[in-house]
Amino acid sequence: TSLFDAVELAPRDPILGLNEQYNSDTRPQKVNLGVGVYYNDEGRIPLLRAVRQAEVQRIEAAAARGYLPIDGLAAYNKAAQVLLLGEGSEVIASGRALTAQALGGTGALKIGADFLRQLLPQSKVAISNPSWENHRALFERAGFTVETYPYYDPATHGLDFDGMLAGLKALPAKTVVVLHACCHNPTGVDPTFEQWQQIAQAVKEGDLVPFLDIAYQGFGEGLEEDASVVRLFASLDLTMLISSSFSKSFSLYGERVGALTLVTSSQDESARVLSQLKRIIRTNYSNPPTHGGTVVSTVLNTPELHGLWAEELAQMRDRIRAVRTQLVEKLKARNVAQDFDFVLAQRGMFSYSGLSAEQVERLRVEHGVYAVSSGRICVAALNSGNIDYVANAIAQVL
Ligand code: PLP
Repeated sequence: TSLFDAVELAPRDPILGLNEQYNSDTRPQKVNLGVGVYYNDEGRIPLLRAVRQAEVQRIEAAAARGYLPIDGLAAYNKAAQVLLLGEGSEVIASGRALTAQALGGTGALKIGADFLRQLLPQSKVAISNPSWENHRALFERAGFTVETYPYYDPATHGLDFDGMLAGLKALPAKTVVVLHACCHNPTGVDPTFEQWQQIAQAVKEGDLVPFLDIAYQGFGEGLEEDASVVRLFASLDLTMLISSSFSKSFSLYGERVGALTLVTSSQDESARVLSQLKRIIRTNYSNPPTHGGTVVSTVLNTPELHGLWAEELAQMRDRIRAVRTQLVEKLKARNVAQDFDFVLAQRGMFSYSGLSAEQVERLRVEHGVYAVSSGRICVAALNSGNIDYVANAIAQVL
């Protein structure tokens, strides 16, 4: 018999499965709101001008493609730290921050998870209920037992803050707590800054291990504003892990550009921790790829390109917010009984629309509008060409 005889077929990824269904749908008016990608008003994934300029520079330089260091490009790592912790950060100045270039935000989470598993073999991981579906799978695969803390309240379409705080306070010391630092995926619901202050205090008092995941910096309120949670935690002298991603903010999904940043309690500790991270990276994929990292690093370290990028990112953010407003207005204009104003308070690419699994199913079958069965829609997939059609479809299934 074959070596692989007993291998079972793994369940397919629910969102990729949705994409396959969408692709084989022949209705011309079909709309895919199931994706996790920003599309522009023409319905395309943009190639940012700042990125294109950095790529032109790179081609003209005709640089050789040697290996990067195990932890990646130093200039990339430094720029990623500054975006998170801020210009003039005391944590950076004192050598308490260390960063490794990673294969997207997912790669950063995995390196961090492997490191924590080695450091805290008794600990569990707590993720929000609900969370990005890969959080649970990734930490379980790294060997952890994964639990959830309360987060979303379907009754208010908002945050169950009391439940969340009580849930965090009930966790044993050294539990790894994964927190979405901005633009929560899948709900779009973020705590207020005042609520974050209480959350950070609970994390500190409970001796929990914060793992901040920030995959959408710049998609909420702004580049600096969206980092305020990271800086709040840093200001409380909390040791922590941060996974960050440029997939969305640079529209470089396939280039796998992310970073794992750790805040330690001393420069000496940073050196020891980094040496362990490098060991994990070395035995997994040796070192990160050059192209995406070089492009992002060039943009972030060239003032003119940095400025252009910040503008292009602001355009993406503003478009999403405008689309939220339009969707709510168009639903109101269709006299739907339900109040959708909560969509305006949500941040980032996603919205928990409040649509039931049955309504999502009807959207797909009757209208060719694809959404995740949880009711999650990608607001960034709406545009002037499809929003009326989608509003009509939603109004009809309500
Ligand atoms: N974390 C969250 C919450 C996400 O939503 C995503 C992407 O969807 C990621 C991490 C990973 O992003 P990347 O594509 O950079 O691996």
